[in-house]
Amino acid sequence: MLSDIEIAQQCKMKKITEIAASLDISPDELELYGSYKAKLADSLEKRLTNKPNGKLILVTAINPTPAGEGKTTTTVGLGQAMPKIGKKAVIALREPSLGPVFGVKGGAAGGGYSQVVPMEDINLHFTGDFHAITSANNLLCAMIDNHIQQGNALDIDTRRIIFKRCLDMNDRALRNIIIGLGGQTNGVVREDHFMITVASEVMAILCLADDIDDLKERLGRVIFGYSRKGVPLYARDLKAVGAMAALLKDAIKPNLVQTLENTPCFIHGGPFANIAHGCNSVRATKLSLKMADYVITEAGFGSDLGAEKFFDIKCRYAGLTPNTVVLVATVRALKYNGGVKKEDTTIPNTAALKAGMVNLEAHIQNLQKFGVPVVVAINRFSTDTDEELSLLKEFCTAQGAEFAISEVFAKGGDGGIELAKKVAASCEKPQKFQYLYDLDMPIKEKISILATRIYGADDVVYSPAADAAIKDIEVLGRSGLPICMAKTQYSLSDDPNKLGRPKNFKISAASVRLCNGAGFIVVETGDIMTLPGLPAVPAACSIDVNNDGYISGLF
Ligand code: ADP
Ligand code: MG
Repeated sequence: MLSDIEIAQQCKMKKITEIAASLDISPDELELYGSYKAKLADSLEKRLTNKPNGKLILVTAINPTPAGEGKTTTTVGLGQAMPKIGKKAVIALREPSLGPVFGVKGGAAGGGYSQVVPMEDINLHFTGDFHAITSANNLLCAMIDNHIQQGNALDIDTRRIIFKRCLDMNDRALRNIIIGLGGQTNGVVREDHFMITVASEVMAILCLADDIDDLKERLGRVIFGYSRKGVPLYARDLKAVGAMAALLKDAIKPNLVQTLENTPCFIHGGPFANIAHGCNSVRATKLSLKMADYVITEAGFGSDLGAEKFFDIKCRYAGLTPNTVVLVATVRALKYNGGVKKEDTTIPNTAALKAGMVNLEAHIQNLQKFGVPVVVAINRFSTDTDEELSLLKEFCTAQGAEFAISEVFAKGGDGGIELAKKVAASCEKPQKFQYLYDLDMPIKEKISILATRIYGADDVVYSPAADAAIKDIEVLGRSGLPICMAKTQYSLSDDPNKLGRPKNFKISAASVRLCNGAGFIVVETGDIMTLPGLPAVPAACSIDVNNDGYISGLF
């Protein structure tokens, strides 16, 4: 079989104006970025305000192997399959980050015959949204340090600046740095930090903002640090908001691209799911719901992280009601959860598969707690044996779960027809969607509900710093925000080595921070990196471009 990029490069793309026309978007409502990418103008949103919404389908997964389990591939494949059963569908995805593209995981434009194109552009600079977000973030940082240099009228405590610089790269050397070295004209010396752009609050804000006014409101509310008297200081105190929003004026518009089968896909925003809320922008999702009968969207990592935050943060803020959730499961990830090493997951092993199925069980049961109908998509790999697949089907049947084998990786939309039928039928089921917790509960009660009901923990243990931060948030009157858990994606617990369905463990809340602009409270468990590093052999080592501009080695 060809590699992902070879398949993508063979695709006969349609002009993006044609894709737009298939959604009744007029050329005036498009801002073209070349022939195959476009941003959607604000006028489109205004024109469609009163149109009824289509059905909203979330794609999530069991706890993944480090390679990913095929959520994006399944999302794209399902989007390609829907027209084959006569349904109009739009896909809404996140934009890939250069961190994983050059690190371990690779790009995020799908795989095999279910990809979005132009995949090279989407995985690299795309329409410049991440550049804009990085710039807006770093403008605030520059203004903070300049304010200190120019006399520090706000009395900023240089030891308590919580807003970090960012870049979209896995670069561990920038996690902890000293800035302002070199004497009087070179700034004030202090300890600083970088985070990856996709973990930044500006990214989360862009993804949750309704429009430019809401964007400015949220940017203004960002707490960047504290004065020496301990008073919180806001981005608006530095008069940074207008310029930050100006940098983001195009980044806030959703991007339109196409799948390998020339169906439409919105790609917009890309917060990580382990350290941020993990979903594409509210604007892209809301807009796509006006344009199709079915909108298929993805939330990062397993349902313990991505789906929970999609429901409790994104749907709550945007007033969205999901109609069905597709739970992607793979034989290899279940074997991994059953104790097999990553490199051995391609070897047939029914014992490990059986042992790992408890993980699938936990995710099915968790999703049922939100009252959204579940369809398990068994994402088939060529190494899966018939015996393994039968076992998995039997398990789903025993759980009373709808399921379909998905072969969208190998066959494109044709491999997803059974799944598409199941999903369309599932969307007609009665809706009982509910959030897992109420916003007006105390912070610790909300965290405890997530830890016990979703992760299966006995309890939550708070560090003294986490306790103090919670008190500060209460004093500020901001305890009514949703919780954004920052946790490893590999386990239901906060320990990546506890696979399957761990029992008898506690969640440790190491730190708690208020993302006042985004509008959530981040609880960091265990050791969560806000700036990942590269592996011994980064994916970057295999990427190249020839003299004609053809890129190879991206995956
Ligand atoms: P996720 O969105 O869950 O992180 P992706 O859809 O990005 O996962 O897939 C992760 C990787 O696995 C991609 O490189 C993709 O090409 C590959 N992949 C996905 N499904 C299959 C499959 N059925 N067979 C082989 N490779 C697959
Ligand atoms: Mg993905």
